[in-house]
Amino acid sequence: MPTTLITGGAGFIGSHLCDALLAEGHRVIAVDNLLTGRRENIAHLANEPRFIFIEQDACEPLLVKDKLDNVLHFASPASPSSKSPVGYMNLPVETLKAGSHATLNTLELARQHGARYLLASTSEVYGDPEITPQPEDYPGRVSPTAPRSCYDEAKRFAEAATMAYHRKFHLPTRIARIFNTYGPRMRRDDGRVLPNFICQALTGQPLTIYGDGKQTRSFCYISDLVGGLLRLLHSDYSQPMNLGDPDEITIEQLAREVLELTGSTSTIAYEPAPEGDPQRRQPDIRRAKQVLGWSPRVPRREGLLRTIEFFRTELGLS
Ligand code: UDP
Repeated sequence: MPTTLITGGAGFIGSHLCDALLAEGHRVIAVDNLLTGRRENIAHLANEPRFIFIEQDACEPLLVKDKLDNVLHFASPASPSSKSPVGYMNLPVETLKAGSHATLNTLELARQHGARYLLASTSEVYGDPEITPQPEDYPGRVSPTAPRSCYDEAKRFAEAATMAYHRKFHLPTRIARIFNTYGPRMRRDDGRVLPNFICQALTGQPLTIYGDGKQTRSFCYISDLVGGLLRLLHSDYSQPMNLGDPDEITIEQLAREVLELTGSTSTIAYEPAPEGDPQRRQPDIRRAKQVLGWSPRVPRREGLLRTIEFFRTELGLS
């Protein structure tokens, strides 16, 4: 039975990964300091004998007696919203440490155990890109000092550190560049576009579009993403891998879809665009298709309906 340690195991993506790894037969050790992760996300695993939860910052020494086969580093604030207390701009030092100290700490742990290492990186390493879709060899357009830099640069450092351990110590490493992902267990207060739009629509508040709404994103449903992450983990591919859904949509169109699917009569309110808001984001997933035989399957409509159901329950509406 493989043993897998995952930092950020109580987060949105991390907790779904815990479920998937357990389903694959792993023993899972989830580490989370609950800064942005939530105990509720893993509450259903309380009686699972193959699951251990350690409430701890991934920057601190990880004392694990069992032999680890895999180390997955998913701990980090990840929402760009400056309006949310859990957004990385309001946790800039924690975010920089999650990308730097915690990455080195988990890489070292993997090296000591001879374990396979998977880094959760991000499409944010491309910054505000000049080309769409973004392939993995696009180096990005990122400012080292702009408001998003605490996240972008931390993840770029994390990738550099991962490649250094791969080259210097021949550590079997994997780098997933995760694009916008959505689904149940997102925080309703994280300020991201889908929790905001869905909760606004369900409670009759205006949907807040930042800027003119012509900016695009491409949203991947959580189960698709987790499938891609597992394939990447089990592959022998050590270069960065985009994982996301190439189905691109404007934020304005997304607002209309949410209104339609919730049956809401909410209005739309336009608010100023945040500084440095990327204009377009769409993954080029040719590499994932070729190397992993992976591409997303859940259509946005279906994923949105499942996510709306989740938030209905979260808000006590069903
Ligand atoms: N956005 C919006 N209204 C909101 C929240 C976000 O129009 O209430 C926009 C945001 O400016 C960005 C896009 O939606 O252009 C996606 O934002 P999100 O915070 O979800 O993630 P990002 O892709 O920027 O990391």
